[in-house]
Formats: sequence, C-alpha cells, structure tokens
Amino acid sequence: MEHSGITFTDVRKEYPDGTVAVGSLDLTVKPGEVLTLVGPSGCGKSTTLRMVNRLVEPTSGSITVDGTDILSQDPVELRRSIGYVIQHVGLFPHRTVAQNVATVPGLLGWSKQDTTARVEELLSLVGLPVDTYGPRYPHELSGGERQRVGVARALAVRPPVLLMDEPFGAVDPQGRRRLQGEFRELQRSLGTTVMMVTHDIREAVLLADRIAVFSRGGVLEQLGTPEDVTERPANDFVEDFLADFDAAPKK
Ligand code: ADP
Repeated sequence: MEHSGITFTDVRKEYPDGTVAVGSLDLTVKPGEVLTLVGPSGCGKSTTLRMVNRLVEPTSGSITVDGTDILSQDPVELRRSIGYVIQHVGLFPHRTVAQNVATVPGLLGWSKQDTTARVEELLSLVGLPVDTYGPRYPHELSGGERQRVGVARALAVRPPVLLMDEPFGAVDPQGRRRLQGEFRELQRSLGTTVMMVTHDIREAVLLADRIAVFSRGGVLEQLGTPEDVTERPANDFVEDFLADFDAAPKK
C-alpha cells in the first residue's frame, strides 16, 4: 500500500463569525506515522483535523494529502478515500454491523464478493468475528464494540490516511486501554497515516509517534516525540499544559 503524508502550509481558518480557529499552521504528518494533536479545549484541534477531509474549508493556505492539493479534489470522493472516526461513532442504527462496515465499499461499487471478504477480514482484525457480530445491530453492542465497528468501517477501503477525533473518548477507561493497544497494533500492521485529536495527553503519549501541542488559534507550541514533549517541554505553555494533566485525577 502507498503511504501518504499530510502537509499543511500556512493554513488559516476563520469562521464566518470572525473566530480565528487556526491562524497560520505549518505542519507535516509523515507517511505511516501517528500524529496526535493535543491542547486545551477550543485551540483548533478539530478544525485542523476536519480541514483535511474538507468538512471545514480552509480560509487560506494549502493542504496536501500524498502530494495532491485537497482543494483540487471532489470533496465527496476525498471523504470516501480518507477514514474518519469520531467519538460517537455514528453507526447507522438500522443497518447491521456487517452492513455498516460495507458502506463505503458499496458506495465505491466493489463487488459483493470483495466486499464480503473485506468485511470479514476487518471485523476479525478488530476482534469482532463476523459470524457473531456481523448480523447484530449497533444497539446490541457495548460502547467499546461500537467503537471497534467504527474503526473497521473507517478502514474498510484501506484508506492511506485516517483521521480520528477523540476516537476512544466514549469508551470506559478499562476498555479504552485495550482498544488503544489493539488500535496501535492494527495501525502498525497496516501502515496507515493517522492524525488523531485527543484532549488526553496520556493517550497521546501511548499512541503517538509525534505529538503536536496547540495553543489557542491553532498555534503550534511544540512538535516532537512523546519523550521530547514530556521530558523537554519547549516553553511554559507546554509545561503548564502537562502540569495540569499531572494534577488532574487519573482516569
Ligand atoms: P478544539 O477541537 O481544540 O476544541 P475547535 O477546532 O473545535 O477546537 O474550535 C476552535 C475555535 O473555533 C473555538 O473558539 C471554537 O469555538 C471555534 N469554532 C469551532 N467551530 C466553529 C464554527 N462552526 N463557527 C464558529 N466558530 C467555531
């Protein structure tokens, strides 16, 4: 599989009400890495993520995925080619687990045979054997299982790039740790490039190859490995952000 990077060059997002969510962002997510965005609430993490699949249109600047400017691509096609997992995963309630995972292959016109094989493979990769789980409906799953289906659905067409916004936020703490570990293994084996938003620095340290720490306005305060950020905070802002976490009750 081709591995794709994501590059932001001087990207700005000003919402119509004048809020500057991201002022001028330069950032590269390397092919095959997991880059997490962390920072206080409202600092522009989700906006940054959602610009990649054009759920939010940048005001100016350029974003490329695998070297291609996303603005030159049809937004619907772009979205189908990029996996997207959010906190409340938004499974279709009246479609079975198997049908949920088959959604994008279906839209892309895959044959029934290819789709069935891929659904089976993916569900097994996320630990939900198709015989047991394929026919169930989302309401017949636990929160963690629903999140796994969300990951399987996002990976169904082997997207080179996966965007994740607090993907494990709605899962109970114990299930979350397991899911995080399994996700990391799956990501490594597939080589998917992942950009993930989390408010949880511990999750970032656990999952990331590199962490981007944002302050308000999408300002990149530090970009580095988990070790860089935790051992060698670039400035007072990063240090204070980490200290707030240390002070917070462990979840
Ligand atoms: P984060 O993900 O870090 O919490 P967001 O990207 O969601 O931050 O938001 C960044 C800033 O942009 C915040 O001030 C937020 O209120 C504002 N914002 C987000 N979405 C919109 C919108 N649709 N219209 C106006 N302002 C918005």
